[in-house]
Amino acid sequence: MAVSRFDTHEVLNQSPPYENVDLFASDTPLQSAVIANGAAQYAASLADFGRQWGTADMLALARRANENPPQLHTFDAKGFRRDIVEFDSAYHHFMRDSIAAGLHASTWSQSGTRAAAPAEVVRSARFYMAAQVETGHLCPITMTRAALAALAAEPALAAKIAPKVATRSYDASFRPWWEKSGMTLGMGMTEKQGGTDVRSNSTSAAPAGDSYSLVGHKWFISAPMSDAFLVLAQAPGGLTCFLMPRFCPDGSVNALRFERLKDKLGNRSNASSEVEFTGAFAWRVGEEGAGIRNILQMVQLTRLDCAVASAGLMRMALVQAVHHCRYRTVFQKRLYDQPMMRAVLTDMALEVEGAVALVFRLSRALDRAAADAREAAYARFMTPAAKYWICKIAPAFIFEAMECLGGNGYVEKSILPRLYREAPVNSIWEGSGNVMCLDVLRALKGQEEAELLAAFERDAGLEPAVFDAANESAARAFVGRLALSASAAALKATAPPALADVFVRTRLANPHGALYGADQVEVATAEMLLQRVLPESQPSS
Ligand SMILES: Cc1cc2nc3c(=O)[nH]c(=O)nc-3n(C[C@H](O)[C@H](O)[C@H](O)COP(=O)(O)OP(=O)(O)OC[C@H]3O[C@@H](n4cnc5c(N)ncnc54)[C@H](O)[C@@H]3O)c2cc1C
Repeated sequence: MAVSRFDTHEVLNQSPPYENVDLFASDTPLQSAVIANGAAQYAASLADFGRQWGTADMLALARRANENPPQLHTFDAKGFRRDIVEFDSAYHHFMRDSIAAGLHASTWSQSGTRAAAPAEVVRSARFYMAAQVETGHLCPITMTRAALAALAAEPALAAKIAPKVATRSYDASFRPWWEKSGMTLGMGMTEKQGGTDVRSNSTSAAPAGDSYSLVGHKWFISAPMSDAFLVLAQAPGGLTCFLMPRFCPDGSVNALRFERLKDKLGNRSNASSEVEFTGAFAWRVGEEGAGIRNILQMVQLTRLDCAVASAGLMRMALVQAVHHCRYRTVFQKRLYDQPMMRAVLTDMALEVEGAVALVFRLSRALDRAAADAREAAYARFMTPAAKYWICKIAPAFIFEAMECLGGNGYVEKSILPRLYREAPVNSIWEGSGNVMCLDVLRALKGQEEAELLAAFERDAGLEPAVFDAANESAARAFVGRLALSASAAALKATAPPALADVFVRTRLANPHGALYGADQVEVATAEMLLQRVLPESQPSS
């Protein structure tokens, strides 16, 4: 006898999915930051991007790209070496859309020089929205755009590569880069014996005519299907930067042997590999021995992206929490109206306000650095400070948002577990927390930087903090405070004064400790903060 199916209950008291939203128009802190940092004229095109990326289809594709991680095919069926990585079509979809929007190159001209302001601010706005939806594919996107900064040390090479990078065309075919309609770039610095201390790199580079032959390994090399990689290796004159293409100039496949893909906590749509170079062809980038100096040009840009992406992850977690709490009732009251939940959401909203104000102020500094020494100084010490603070707070922040959804937040079908697993990588790679703090100490040795620092503190109504650049054990406390006072200063330009004041009171003058919701925020200010997260009559596309 067939068993009939029947419903035991009606599903009640759940929030509708957060989808088909305009990621720009619904986000007041983002809009304010874009306007305050000189990019108001791009609002309409950013809203187009926000609507495109906020659709249910994009959110579903992001889940699929992460549920079907890439696979390495070392050999084919007949035993020939292949060394190719296969991705789900959803991953290619994101690559195509991000490249079409210029996330990989819009801050450069066709010839590889910096694009005019506000190129950084506009790109950061798109990057921030994209990170809310799918972060794994942003790894090759960020490396591609940053690599051009290092390539500038070799103008003849940059002149050939930059126009191919600058196209808005994603070409995933496994062919020599010069035959393709567009190309992407990766980088390899980390070896088994050291990632922070790249001076310990053991890969060797022997001159071979106009080029070099590299023998050695890299322990982490993400986006292995990139068309070329910036790598560090020991040349006769010391640690040197190279560009290593997947195909040699004669069209043969270059000697990169991918050993395996990393089985990672998160970042699962993206492939991160281990590789051996068995006499791989490479061009030198810059002088022999100048490898670290050259690669550092790139690292400042990838570090900015880490901070922007983590702010984006926090934004998506926050908006999920606020959205859910507006629908879910507990004890005859919306969660949103329960006093303690409101205190938690308000405090989290303030944290995102600070992070967003800071990353866009920093993007503006990069826009202006070439023409303004103070902006260049700001970018030098604030890039590691922002990366340190924002990437460090993101995992705990996302967990708090997850808890706002209760059990629903812990299950895979909600986006929260993916955001949570994704967050730590932004802190670990491109210089982990302590390394960022050491970088800030180094940068603050200049007089210009020290004066800027004192100015933030005075702006926030505080006594300038005393710092000792030689005391490494105090660096975390100092850099955390620096990031907070710079956020407070940036908030003055992007948010109403009451909001900047409450940020200073709760984070600097009278810090509340590590957990959210432990402050008393005035009712009207709390309401303003929550409406800025997501207006209750939220526009949908
Ligand atoms: C998903 C993923 C993708 C990656 N992709 C790439 C890639 O494409 N290319 C690439 O080159 N690398 C890549 N990496 C590697 C990454 O950049 C390194 O893991 C990172 O730089 C840290 O190096 P390490 O792992 O060798 O750790 P270590 O250098 O051993 O550092 C360990 C810890 O010690 C701390 N530390 C180091 N020096 C000091 C000090 N002086 N004082 C106090 N503390 C210190 C660090 O902050 C860190 O917390 C990737 C990593 C991950 C997780």
